[in-house]
Amino acid sequence: MSGTAQAAETSPAYDLLLAGGTVIDPASGRQETADVAVYDGRVAAIGPGLTGRALWRVDCRGAMITPGLIDFHVHIFAEVTTLGAPAEAACLQRGVTTAVDAGSAGCWTFAAFARHVARQVPLGVYCFLNVAATGILDIRLGENRVLDHLLVDDAVALAARHPDLIKGFKVRLGEQMVGNSCRPVLERARAMGDAAGLPLMLHIGETPEPLPEILHYLRPGDVVSHCYTGNRHGILQDGALLDAVRAARDAGVLYDSAHGSSHFSYAVARRAIEAGFLPDTISSDNSLRNWRGPVHDLPTTMAKFVALGVPFLDVLERVTWRPAQLLGLAGEGYGRLQPGGPADLTVLRWTEEPYLLRDSTGEVLQAPRLEPLYTVRAGHLVPCVPWRGVAA
Ligand SMILES: [Zn+2]
Repeated sequence: MSGTAQAAETSPAYDLLLAGGTVIDPASGRQETADVAVYDGRVAAIGPGLTGRALWRVDCRGAMITPGLIDFHVHIFAEVTTLGAPAEAACLQRGVTTAVDAGSAGCWTFAAFARHVARQVPLGVYCFLNVAATGILDIRLGENRVLDHLLVDDAVALAARHPDLIKGFKVRLGEQMVGNSCRPVLERARAMGDAAGLPLMLHIGETPEPLPEILHYLRPGDVVSHCYTGNRHGILQDGALLDAVRAARDAGVLYDSAHGSSHFSYAVARRAIEAGFLPDTISSDNSLRNWRGPVHDLPTTMAKFVALGVPFLDVLERVTWRPAQLLGLAGEGYGRLQPGGPADLTVLRWTEEPYLLRDSTGEVLQAPRLEPLYTVRAGHLVPCVPWRGVAA
């Protein structure tokens, strides 16, 4: 047997080798300069100086290699809804390997969402089904104003048929969406969640009732979106965190940031962070309305939290391991980096120059930005597209 053949037998072959990056995995606490090798859609090995032939080799020096980012709140039902961003450009090509659509589809439009988005785009897609059968066709619609459109039996049956896609129910509670009270809408949403055994995800801000009255309807595992909204009836009163908000968290209710065009206030975030109140998950609420600003994407949203003083590891955990757990994907190895686990990875680096990072109220922070370089989804390498904003 020739030396070459022997080398081929003993030296493993990889599809992809991400070489020399800082591997950061909040779930295990791993943080080291290392290579990550990928074979057949799985992480084959992690360690310094991996040897082996690879079809593709990416120099990751100066960059971070993290678990694939999970955006827990986006709107990617393009073409059927007027707020749907293109999933590949807004998520996959900006570092996101798994995205959760938050209520764009309702039970009358879910089949189209499943066919044309969830089973079509090359990233992990899940959804919270809108309690209104129409979903959010257009944000001016006010989808919960016709109570007869909240079809409990239909929604529960649909969720039972698609447990692989539907992870809960989304209910938007702004005055414009529900009219002069949240209560009848919340009662139907509660009935859906209880009958299906699935969590509710609530859109708050500008609600007819104050937040404590809404929290009263929630159970452990339910999610309050837009937790740093600067709009009326948010988590603060006279600048202090409401006792009811903390009590709900202690009882198991979860909070998600869901930035969006109108739901992320640096002023609220600063108060909440000072009070030790971080979101359980950090998400962008990316949509066609905001993916060219002020939100842009999930990495830019992460950079805003870091600019506000939240340690990077705490931010990263909230876009990887935490959402993987909430979606029931942690057991399959998503949201973390380990040999044998799914090869969902993101390669990111901090930009050197400061950028203008705008919140939903118009306040601007001048801070470095996170730039995704590559997304790896199920072992496939996807180069990222450059940021669409402007430097400071
Ligand atoms: Zn949203």
